[in-house]
Amino acid sequence: MNTSSIYHCLGLQDQQLSSTTYVGDTIQLKVKTKKDKLRCSRCKRLHIICCGVVTPSFKGPMIGKKNRVIIINVLRLYCKKC
Ligand SMILES: [Zn+2]
Repeated sequence: MNTSSIYHCLGLQDQQLSSTTYVGDTIQLKVKTKKDKLRCSRCKRLHIICCGVVTPSFKGPMIGKKNRVIIINVLRLYCKKC
């Protein structure tokens, strides 16, 4: 699975696939936001500072008999004005 597939199959926009891991009957897809799409979470400006990372995961649709877990690296971003 590649970045194009996560957009067309899962509908994840502005994301790119960073890694795929196979654990038992589960496929773990690690996804992160494309650098050019990173913006301040309050005012949407482009000049940002990273203030931490949160990695929530959720269950995606199955592929055959394999479970799929999607893990997203969510950066906590702010700009100098916020
Ligand atoms: Zn801001």
